[in-house]
Amino acid sequence: VEMRELLLSRIRDVADYPKPGVLFKDITPLLADPAAFTVLTDALAELCVTHGATKVVGLEARGFILAAPVAVRAGVGFIPVRKAGKLPGATLSQAYELEYGTAEIEIHAEDIGADDRVMVIDDVLATGGTAEASLELIRRAGAEVAGVAILMELGFLGGRTRLEPSLRGAPLEAL
Ligand code: 5GP
Repeated sequence: VEMRELLLSRIRDVADYPKPGVLFKDITPLLADPAAFTVLTDALAELCVTHGATKVVGLEARGFILAAPVAVRAGVGFIPVRKAGKLPGATLSQAYELEYGTAEIEIHAEDIGADDRVMVIDDVLATGGTAEASLELIRRAGAEVAGVAILMELGFLGGRTRLEPSLRGAPLEAL
């Protein structure tokens, strides 16, 4: 309860961003507070250890900020999942639906394999589309999914329900 209060107190609501009618959850105040950032990093790292992760995937761009210190803290590798066209090596790509149009994300498949259990880390779960596509990439790379660990779930957008079939029993942990 204490952790939840601390984290919530450091998330700023920004109205009408990135477009009218959207209430954006801004995590930059949390990142600016070393106590809160440490609590968050430790909690996500503990989930990685609990669920036996060998690697963490960070989702561009805010997922990178969280997943990198978590990887170091948990003693596991960090793997970036990036928007299409940003990774220099051989990639696997996965397209997914947005509210308007589609998006595409990529992973360096060489950097994960059959021996890995991968935890997906991001700041916010909204519709679940990004996380769903990342689980697809992890499985296509031949690795196992350890779970999805996020700071905040926007429950009213139904991301958990959408993600459930792709989780195949793996945990979705929202702090
Ligand atoms: P989804 O694919 O679940 O609809 O959207 C999740 C992605 O969009 C995440 O990578 C997340 O960073 C970003 N996102 C969507 N809404 C918000 C928000 O209100 N605040 C923040 N910080 N990120 C958001």
